[in-house]
Amino acid sequence: MMVLVRFSTRNILIDPSMLKTLPTIFGTIRHYHFNTDQTHKIPDPFPSTQGINRNIVAVFWDLDNKPPKSLSPFDAAIRLKKAAESFGTVRYKIAYANQRSFEYIPPEIKQHRRDRKSLNQLENKGVIKPVDPYICRVCGRKFYNNDKLINHFKQIHEREHVKRVSQIESAKGSQRVKLVGKYSIKMEKYRNAARDILTPKVGYGLGDEIKRAGYWVRTVSNKPQAADVALRDHMVDMMDRRQMECLILVSDDSDFVEVLKEARLRCLKTVVVGDCKGGALKRVCDAGFSWEEVIMGKAKKEAVSVVGKWKDGDILRRLEWTYNYERDRKFYDSDASDLVCGEDDGDKVDGSRAWWKLESDSDVASL
Ligand SMILES: [Zn+2]
Repeated sequence: MMVLVRFSTRNILIDPSMLKTLPTIFGTIRHYHFNTDQTHKIPDPFPSTQGINRNIVAVFWDLDNKPPKSLSPFDAAIRLKKAAESFGTVRYKIAYANQRSFEYIPPEIKQHRRDRKSLNQLENKGVIKPVDPYICRVCGRKFYNNDKLINHFKQIHEREHVKRVSQIESAKGSQRVKLVGKYSIKMEKYRNAARDILTPKVGYGLGDEIKRAGYWVRTVSNKPQAADVALRDHMVDMMDRRQMECLILVSDDSDFVEVLKEARLRCLKTVVVGDCKGGALKRVCDAGFSWEEVIMGKAKKEAVSVVGKWKDGDILRRLEWTYNYERDRKFYDSDASDLVCGEDDGDKVDGSRAWWKLESDSDVASL
């Protein structure tokens, strides 16, 4: 005989230690339960795209509000990515800033450039000589004068690079693919060397460095709030398309409170990286970290317990009743008489009985 179990989560107090075993127990019960009636099978409210093991993470970085300060942009971006990876599979990394943020040069970089300039002048006059030579990272030539290295690099390697780029740009189709393949290693080597030798033409290379770390970087107009609005629209658009299950926002700007609330309403997990302790954003998110915690790797460690809590929450949600209008409408349409009575008279034959109905009064007694 098939055993039917009445299961009402509202009356059950669940010990947190039971949570690990519950999915198995519940899975078993549900399996048998639904197998008694194939006609009204309820689909899994958490299909694989929303599964607890595939948490798709999207990182949104408000660069205007939180530019990398203590670290180089590339290092900061990589550490942020590492921290984000401990919350799930990072599929989207998006950064927005206005033109001014990309043109800005931090004071410490300005100071470094000034120091370098005066050092170069002393080297040119022959007042000082570096202990170790400067080595060209493309061809390996050694120089005891930084200005000479820069001149060598510009006259030989920069020219070669410009030629290669124009060759690729003027080629089409398979020819272009061949050229890209042929030059890829040389161009990569040039770019790596140029980063250290040549001064970026605009700002300090913030945008390029963040792109290099794998982020999608967008520049918006210098109008106030332009980056906020663009970032917010992007978040809502991705929510509409259900492209993420976890949203990580890097900002201290309280203008994002509403969009975070919206994300939570849509059952997304939310994490904020910012430095306003107990700020408006941190009050509406699931977990909050400071930049310092991201850089020191503390966020990565703490993410383990945050993810653990999310998994427990997901399990509890699975136990709750979910309402699906289409499914329930069809169900009640085919079972209208019961709706009118509002009671289960228990006189139906097995094949047509709804899954939630008990087999007979004796089943209730046996529980
Ligand atoms: Zn060289």
